[in-house]
Amino acid sequence: MDEQYRDLLIRQQYRLHKDHAAVKLCHWLKESLVHGRCCYKQDFYGIESHRCLQMTPAINECSHRCTFCWRVQDSDFEVREWAEPKEMLDALIAHQRMLISGFKGDPRCSRQMFEEASNPNQVAISLAGEPITYPYLSDFVKECHSRGMTTFLVTNGTYPERLEELDELPMQTYVTVAAPNKEVYGRICRPKVADGWERIIRTLELLPSLDTRTVIRHTLVKDLNMGREEDYARLDRIADPDMIEPKGYVFVGASRQRLSLSSMPSFDEVREFSSALGELVGMDILRERPDSRVLLMGREGTETDVRKACAERLSRPTR
Ligand code: SF4
Repeated sequence: MDEQYRDLLIRQQYRLHKDHAAVKLCHWLKESLVHGRCCYKQDFYGIESHRCLQMTPAINECSHRCTFCWRVQDSDFEVREWAEPKEMLDALIAHQRMLISGFKGDPRCSRQMFEEASNPNQVAISLAGEPITYPYLSDFVKECHSRGMTTFLVTNGTYPERLEELDELPMQTYVTVAAPNKEVYGRICRPKVADGWERIIRTLELLPSLDTRTVIRHTLVKDLNMGREEDYARLDRIADPDMIEPKGYVFVGASRQRLSLSSMPSFDEVREFSSALGELVGMDILRERPDSRVLLMGREGTETDVRKACAERLSRPTR
């Protein structure tokens, strides 16, 4: 890893293990500890924001340069030696404990919340890069599950063969579909691979056969990829996901060099898009979080099943 890049990440409160794995406290973990406000995934799925490990096993590679991405881009590099899953998880949890240590003395954070936060039980495998490129991802997921942790993976869909190879899949797998067609995809995701769109289609075709809960995330940027609900519906019908999350772009981080405040759609515009899409794919709006510009779409009962599955996983005895 380039020293300058490492210094930049450390300054941005990332903590690294070897040169490919990283953890960073999520805004919502902190909000949850001191203000009791949780992230939309706690609302939608029953995970606990204050016990979430926001991490990546592969900060070194991404096949996209999405205009809406808040992360530092263009810093791909070869990994000399990949960490073993157990060692990596232990190291990142130790880093997280250091990162939250300041909350111990904060009167707004209860002793119980602090103790719980010191023992993460949710792993958000989505911090940066393309986590699916980590060669031991299946074993990592197995390790997390053996400790009674819930696991959410986000992928940009350009590694279908890697997804197919996973013999233990995360509880919830997100595929980001941020374009209704190949032309818009080229402009908004700025792929580094020539056949990125074709790879995404292969991933969507794969989803119905996978033993994981599948979610399509439509990241919506005003005046760039909104509308064309018919085209999005055609893609969603291929994937036949358990749920869809239309989510409005947020003007934060490095994306501010590429987009503007006016690129953020209002919650009403995201809801309008969702209602139109729901009509086309036969899904209802199950939940809404206006402050995060996101909605949960699914079929009757989906949401209850999801929450039950999360609660069941979290209640299992850990080894
Ligand atoms: S699930 Fe995502 S938004 Fe919620 S606390 Fe974890 S990283 Fe943050």
